[in-house]
Amino acid sequence: RAKEQGRNDFRFYAPEMNARMLERLELENGLRRALEQDELELHYQPKVELAHGRVVGAEALIRWRHPVLGMVSPADFIPVAEETGLIVPIGEWVINTACRQLQAWREEGLPDVSVAVNVSARQFQQADLVGVLDEALRSTEVPARQLHLEVTESGVMSNPERTIVMLRTLKEIGVLVSLDDFGTGYSSLNYLKRFLIDSVKIDQSFVADLTTSSEDAAIARMVISLAHSLNQTVVAEGVETAAQLDFLRRYHCDQMQGYLCSRPIPAAAFASLVRDGGHIPLPATSRLH
Ligand code: C2E
Ligand code: MG
Ligand code: MG
Ligand code: MG
Repeated sequence: RAKEQGRNDFRFYAPEMNARMLERLELENGLRRALEQDELELHYQPKVELAHGRVVGAEALIRWRHPVLGMVSPADFIPVAEETGLIVPIGEWVINTACRQLQAWREEGLPDVSVAVNVSARQFQQADLVGVLDEALRSTEVPARQLHLEVTESGVMSNPERTIVMLRTLKEIGVLVSLDDFGTGYSSLNYLKRFLIDSVKIDQSFVADLTTSSEDAAIARMVISLAHSLNQTVVAEGVETAAQLDFLRRYHCDQMQGYLCSRPIPAAAFASLVRDGGHIPLPATSRLH
C-alpha cells in the first residue's frame, strides 16, 4: 500500500519535475550550441560623461540570437549559465570578443574608448580568470586600461579576502574594476575601503525613483559622496529622464548609462557614434528647481 502510494506520488510529481528539468536541459544544450555556432553577440551601451556628453566607453552586454526564439535576453539565460557552470566558457568568450573588438577599433584608428565586461560571481571566483584576461590582452595587444570588469557585490563579498588578492592582481595587470548594481547587495563599508575598486555603479532601481522617492534620492547622494571620498568614479545606470539627469548633475555623478542617451547597440553603430565626434547631446539642466 505504502509502495503504491509512493508510486502514485512519484507519478503525480514526475511530469512537472521532468518538464522543468527538460526546459533547463534544453536551455543548457541550446547555450552549448550557441557557443559553438556563433549565436552569441555583444551589444555596446555608451557610458557618457555627465559634464560634456562625451562618450568615454561602453558596457558590453551579451545577446543570444536564437535561431527559433530570436533575441533572448541575458536575464533569461545568464542564471542558467551560472548554475550549470557554462558561464565560465561564455565569460571567456565575452572577454575574448571584447578584446578582439577593441583591437579592431584600434586598427581602424577609432579614438580610444573603454569596454566594460560583466563578470559573474562564479567566473570571478574561478582560478583561471587572470590567465584568460592576460591571454586575451596579450594576443590582441589591447592596453589593459581599455578593458574594465563589472563585478557585483555578491561576486566580491562571497569571499572578500580572496577578492582583495584578486583585485590587487587585476590592478597589477592594469584592468579597471567597477562594482555593479551597487546598493542591491550587502557590501560592508569596511571592505569597500579595502577593495581596490575604480568605480561604482548606482543600481538602476535607485535611479528609477530618484526624483519621486526621497529615500532613493538619499541613497544615490550617499553612494556618490562615499565613492568620491574613496577616490572612485560614479556611474549611474538606467537613466531615462531629463529630471534624473538634472539630479545626477546636481550631485556631481561622473558618468551615466541609460536609454536617455542610448540603448545597447551593435558594435558598428557604437563605432559610428565614436567616429562622429563621440558626443551625445544631453538635455540642458532645467532651471525649474
Ligand atoms: P547589468 O550589468 O546591470 O546591465 C544593465 C542592464 O540594464 C542591461 O540589461 C541594460 O540593457 C539595461 N539598461 C540600460 N539602460 C537602461 C535604461 O535606461 N532603462 C532600463 N529599463 N534598462 C536599461 P541587459 O542587457 O538585459 O542585461 C541584464 C543583466 O544581464 C546585466 O545587468 C548583467 O548582470 C547580465 N549580463 C549581461 N551581459 C552579460 C555578460 O556578458 N556576462 C555576464 N556574466 N552577465 C551579463
Ligand atoms: Mg553591468
Ligand atoms: Mg548594473
Ligand atoms: Mg543591473
